Amino acid sequence: MSRPESGRVLYSELEYPWGKPPLPGEVQEVADGVLWLRMPMPLGLDHINLYLLQHGNGWVIVDTGLALDQSRSVWERVFEEVIHNEPVVGIIATHFHFDHSGLLGWLSERFRCPVYMTQGEYQSLFISPSESSEANWEFRQFYQLCGVSDAQISEFYKGLKRGHYQRIYPRSYRRLKEGSVLEIGKRRWRVVVGSGHSPEHACLYCEDDQLFISGDQVLPRISSSVSVVAIEPDANPLADWLASLQHLRKVADEVLVLPAHERPFYGLHKRLEQLERHHRLHLQTVVDALGSKSMTINELRPLLFPKVKDNFDLMLATGETLAHLNFLWDEGVVHRAQQGNCYRYGLAQREDSALESNGLLVSA
Ligand SMILES: [Zn+2]
Repeated sequence: MSRPESGRVLYSELEYPWGKPPLPGEVQEVADGVLWLRMPMPLGLDHINLYLLQHGNGWVIVDTGLALDQSRSVWERVFEEVIHNEPVVGIIATHFHFDHSGLLGWLSERFRCPVYMTQGEYQSLFISPSESSEANWEFRQFYQLCGVSDAQISEFYKGLKRGHYQRIYPRSYRRLKEGSVLEIGKRRWRVVVGSGHSPEHACLYCEDDQLFISGDQVLPRISSSVSVVAIEPDANPLADWLASLQHLRKVADEVLVLPAHERPFYGLHKRLEQLERHHRLHLQTVVDALGSKSMTINELRPLLFPKVKDNFDLMLATGETLAHLNFLWDEGVVHRAQQGNCYRYGLAQREDSALESNGLLVSA
């Protein structure tokens, strides 16, 4: 899940070897034995890129698509027309998000083959929105503290319960860690782990052939959502994300980046730099806005995300605004105070009697 990033200049600084993506159900060979499959999705972001890696007379799949009949029928076509009913011998999930892991269980069951993912991502699969038709108090309180209205919170909750977020779970997995090596066909792929978009996201790096399957950890044109959610209200995913951008610099700049959304590109280090700048600018926007007054998350959100397409987008934008606030809070740059149901934020060094005389004053 990702959000559009403004600015065409950034887009043009990267080099895209393929002008158009393959049609749904068709593939583009991006390297010998590496196929790029574009899977359609009925979301704001209308597709995900999946990859098939040849392994002898079989195939390894990287990411799966949403758990929908539409995705299953694309896969059926691929099995028949692209890999000619050769077996799938393993499935790698870069991370637990629904578009990447929705069909892990279905594919694993169908081919009786293992699923490879990190422990953090496997465990996250099992943290689902509640079965209840009404939002639980933790979910409601989390968004109230952000300054979101009760009616809007109910809309957020309804959106999370949509059918395409259902998954078929794999019952077992093989654990990937930072530095794990997978031998697939004639290639060795080393696991590089990132965090901030999801807990323990696996990227795959083939140093010999300069290929890098980046999942959602590095995307061109759009920036991955770095969001705080109700399950951990005080999380600081932006610190993890910025550290991961540094960590990914150990991957060679020359690689062909194979991302989960948009198109494959060259220019990894440039893109890492752009993504860092994007978040530093957002942090500065927040600090500037708080220069003269205290504000809620909901008041700050439009400054960072002036355009939101739908409720899901609004929920992500709220969580991402909070990610920037939690980062600044951990750094001691801002403080927060609860007034009624809602947090208000101000600059830490600023005397603010209204903040200090109302509710609990909490700092990092
Ligand atoms: Zn994701």
